[in-house]
Amino acid sequence: MKDDCIFCKIAKGKIPSATIYEDSHFRVLLDVNPASKGHCLIIPKEHFDNIYDLDGETAGKLFSLATCIARAMKDALHCDGLNVVQNNGEIAGQTVMHFHLHLIPRYEGDQVQLTWTPHESDQSELEAICQAIRKAI
Ligand code: AMP
Ligand code: ZN
Repeated sequence: MKDDCIFCKIAKGKIPSATIYEDSHFRVLLDVNPASKGHCLIIPKEHFDNIYDLDGETAGKLFSLATCIARAMKDALHCDGLNVVQNNGEIAGQTVMHFHLHLIPRYEGDQVQLTWTPHESDQSELEAICQAIRKAI
């Protein structure tokens, strides 16, 4: 637990939250400033800054839980779609530096924006990037 981390405090129940689900590893709650109705966050109770810190076992359990929550959201909210979003680093939009997964229900005609401009690429560039990342695994 990091003393100055708001999500550590929420995860451990020291700050009240609109909790949907809780077990020994995770808390699932409603985002206080939702992108759409029913926007959920899955927060591990252990502090990890971001995806680079997260261990594989926790990540596996977390995504398994995400599938369960997503199905429950679909049934309860009757949303038309759902985005899974997870931000790492300020440039990527991370504002709370405790790993969390967003589950954002989508509705026909909503104004939620999660888009980017596709760029052109060429085969040699793709191959060079492939090789660089492959070597780093
Ligand atoms: P991110 O920008 O990916 O770091 O997401 C942080 C999210 O946490 C934002 O969507 C905030 O609205 C949400 N948030 C911040 N404080 C709270 C809080 N006390 N309870 C619920 N959600 C929060
Ligand atoms: Zn934390």
